Amino acid sequence: MLAHRHHELPPTAGLPLQWTDLRPGAPALADTVAAQLGTPPLQLECSGTASLLIALAALRERQPRRRRVVVPAYTCPLVAIAVHQAGLELQLCDLRPGHYDMDPAALRAACDERTLAIIPTHLAGRVADVGNALAVARSVGAYVIEDAAQALGARRNGISVGLAGDIGFFSLAAGKGLSIYEGGLLLARDPALREHLARTAARIVPPSLGWEGRRSLELLGYAALYQPRGLRLAYGNPLRRALRRGDPVAAVGDDFPLTIPLHRVGRWRQAVGAHAATRLPAFLDQLSAQARRRRLRLHRIDAIEVLDDPAGAQGTWPFLLLLLPDQQRRDVALAQLWPSGLGVSRLFIHALPDYAYLAGVVLPQDVPNARDFAARSLSISNSPWTTDEDFETICNVLERI
Ligand SMILES: *Cc1c(COP(=O)(O)O)cnc(C)c1O
Repeated sequence: MLAHRHHELPPTAGLPLQWTDLRPGAPALADTVAAQLGTPPLQLECSGTASLLIALAALRERQPRRRRVVVPAYTCPLVAIAVHQAGLELQLCDLRPGHYDMDPAALRAACDERTLAIIPTHLAGRVADVGNALAVARSVGAYVIEDAAQALGARRNGISVGLAGDIGFFSLAAGKGLSIYEGGLLLARDPALREHLARTAARIVPPSLGWEGRRSLELLGYAALYQPRGLRLAYGNPLRRALRRGDPVAAVGDDFPLTIPLHRVGRWRQAVGAHAATRLPAFLDQLSAQARRRRLRLHRIDAIEVLDDPAGAQGTWPFLLLLLPDQQRRDVALAQLWPSGLGVSRLFIHALPDYAYLAGVVLPQDVPNARDFAARSLSISNSPWTTDEDFETICNVLERI
């Protein structure tokens, strides 16, 4: 067993809040981030999932006869829940073997004149193959929505992700880089589509004092506890309890509610996000530099693959996503590292058809590559609080396995 630790590392590298971020100010979050990324105006919503719901509602108005939405078979369960809540049909596409992208042949086979949208996903901050999704989408007359929930700040050829497809969205949820506890940003290249997204949100998103009050309190709690001492209480102890009961889905927080709340984000949380965002570019640079060094260290371990970006792309590095040679060795590594407080975890536990609680949302389907990805992957936090010594401890465990 690894030595007992007093500090808990978070599974992802979220930008820590400072007390001064909590002061009132201009609700400039969307404008601040758009200026940093060099994008057209961004539309702030109450979550990444809400952003996706709004995108789907707008596209559905444009193509009312198309009902199918194609998503990778290994992705966040919230994506499936959003498609369901939008009243559309979920269609899964298996992954390329040993890769986070959708398999090109499977994607072509999955799409036809019934397809409304394809959702390539920048998983773990890695830059996805949007070009292939666009080619397939254009050949059948469908749209592309880039899921950049985990990739705020990622670029391809210098341009922010989310702009190659028709619509993109980022998540501002707890632990996902820049956070206002729950939030999302929508982007679109085409001004007419941006206008349509804004109109759709104005129609379907109500103000709610109850939700905004709750999220404001949660943001205060996040500001207080998102640090190595607080995380033991807020993250590590519940994680270890879930692992002891043999509930990995709860351990990673994959057990989402089946109804997505829609409400407007208040001015105070927008100001907090805008204050914190001023530190985001330097923070992301620091994470890239750290990830580069640590990838080199991991490359010295036989038979471990660290997922990386395609040529010309600069992803973000909230954590390092690894593929081990087989599930057995992955599980041996996790048995030691997952409960240890070192920020080692899993991304999503299952391929989408394998979550029991999603039975009413996802139809059974054979998706062998997505299942293999779920079975062989593990994540190592890229938090700046992970010291070189912590990282070496993790590498030593992996080397022994
Ligand atoms: C977190 C996440 C979402 C949903 O974003 P929220 O802001 O949590 O609603 C969608 N897709 C992926 C890949 C995610 O990781």
